[in-house]
Amino acid sequence: MTQSPTTPLSADSPHDPASGLAAVEQEILHACKEARRDRASVTLIAVSKTFAADAILPIIGAGQRVFGENRVQEAKGKWPELIQANPGVRLHLIGPLQSNKAKEAVALFDAIHSVDRTSVCEALAKEIKSQQKHPELFVQINTGEEPQKAGVAPQDADTFIAACREKYGLPISGLMCIPPVDQAPAPHFALCAKIAARNGLTNLSMGMSADFAAAIAMGATHVRVGSAIFGTRTVVHN
Ligand SMILES: *Cc1c(COP(=O)(O)O)cnc(C)c1O
Repeated sequence: MTQSPTTPLSADSPHDPASGLAAVEQEILHACKEARRDRASVTLIAVSKTFAADAILPIIGAGQRVFGENRVQEAKGKWPELIQANPGVRLHLIGPLQSNKAKEAVALFDAIHSVDRTSVCEALAKEIKSQQKHPELFVQINTGEEPQKAGVAPQDADTFIAACREKYGLPISGLMCIPPVDQAPAPHFALCAKIAARNGLTNLSMGMSADFAAAIAMGATHVRVGSAIFGTRTVVHN
């Protein structure tokens, strides 16, 4: 296999994505068992941002079918060909979405985790109608109220979810959050779960490489795991 510039292999400990995936799967199984949850209630999203096809193909080969990307443009460059060759693959947009990218996002992604403003709702509603495609939609909650982070403030969440449903006719399936890096994630997962419950939403996209087991304990239905599968990203990309 040739090494692409975005697939780092360090000389002393080469990272093997397939064994990364197997280790993550074991940890998910364990977390589900601890939480007395069915493994089937948790969807693993393998976050492949910055990694090229040579890193992704072994993961598809190992049976993984759901992948996450955080940039529409990057996903457009590498996924159409991979999806054509592997028709069962599902792609989730986990990064911020601008309304001018809604058309491409609806065309390419099976789920969008970053609905967070009315301009995006409007653009999505229009594209869903014209493309007759129905991506699963998550509203992103900025649980840490971090100014640099996308997402709806917790105190605005109920109003925003109601507007998505009533004003834009968008069927919202769940909530997504990214806890602040310097804080314990559990209170953020709990807040996200609480907002979901009072809005009748069943899906929770929460938990990354460092904290997906904790997220499963708190009800996550979708965990977004990148580096624990693919290895450390050398390209800074957030
Ligand atoms: C990159 C990214 C992830 C995966 O992060 P890891 O720490 O590598 O598992 C999850 N969610 C979002 C929104 C991301 O941008």
